[in-house]
Amino acid sequence: MLMDTLDRILKPFHRLLASSGQKCLTCGRITSLSREYLGICRTCYMSIPWITRPRCIYCGRQIGCPDCTREQAGPWHFVCNRSAATYNADMREWLAQYKYRGNEAYAPLLISMLERAYRQLQQEIAKKQQISFHKTGQAAEVQWQAHMITSVPVSLERLKERGFNQAEVLARGLAAAVKLPYAELLQRDRHTHKQSFKSRMDRLKDMEGVFRSLPEAAEVIELLATSIYSRTKALKSINSAMADAPFSLRILLIDDIYTTGSTINACSQELKIAGETQGIPVEIFSLTWARS
Ligand SMILES: [Zn+2]
Ligand SMILES: [Zn+2]
Repeated sequence: MLMDTLDRILKPFHRLLASSGQKCLTCGRITSLSREYLGICRTCYMSIPWITRPRCIYCGRQIGCPDCTREQAGPWHFVCNRSAATYNADMREWLAQYKYRGNEAYAPLLISMLERAYRQLQQEIAKKQQISFHKTGQAAEVQWQAHMITSVPVSLERLKERGFNQAEVLARGLAAAVKLPYAELLQRDRHTHKQSFKSRMDRLKDMEGVFRSLPEAAEVIELLATSIYSRTKALKSINSAMADAPFSLRILLIDDIYTTGSTINACSQELKIAGETQGIPVEIFSLTWARS
């Protein structure tokens, strides 16, 4: 009897709890959402084609990669690329929602995915440093980090059309999440057309003169490098094993998609030149949301 009464009293609450699910951003189902699943439903989360073990150490591709090992691939100006996920049909739809339909609700999801990819890159480099420590006896830094974040720019024409630079929003979000400074360093003078069907040589030619560093880029690089250098120098005086490691400014370059690498490569080249004008060696690590 008591149970019946209790049941009668609690029933409306049960119903309320059952219907209090939220709408999943990516599939529209009403269900419970959690931060563990990046704010989408479990099913959608499970369908993300994460790249956890890249086969190609250069471009971060999940599958075997002839592009990066071919000799005529030309000069690479960045250390490596890592991407959060493989660009499949679902990811294409998510990106379309965000980039072309301007659905801002997708930004936090894509940023969380990038953040995971960044943490994974940190771990990967930490592992490499441990191996080299065993070989050389030279201690690694406490935790590997990029020094700053920047993004691949869009042309003015695209900016007017879309109203925002999709890569910049992702980069700024990531910078806030991992507590690194963000600065715009590049500009894009013209827009290029779809490149996937061209040969690598043609793509490289197409990219000539597309990107330029902003007039203030060299100064930003110098200011940041100087402040980090003096900080690490103080650290090195405590840890003498670190003293001989050469300094270079590590820039994390963000874009939504990595396809052929020609965009990232052209941007990296400009960033390196901007550093060189100030006598500062720059290393570029590319982090992209998806690898096509
Ligand atoms: Zn869902
Ligand atoms: Zn590759």
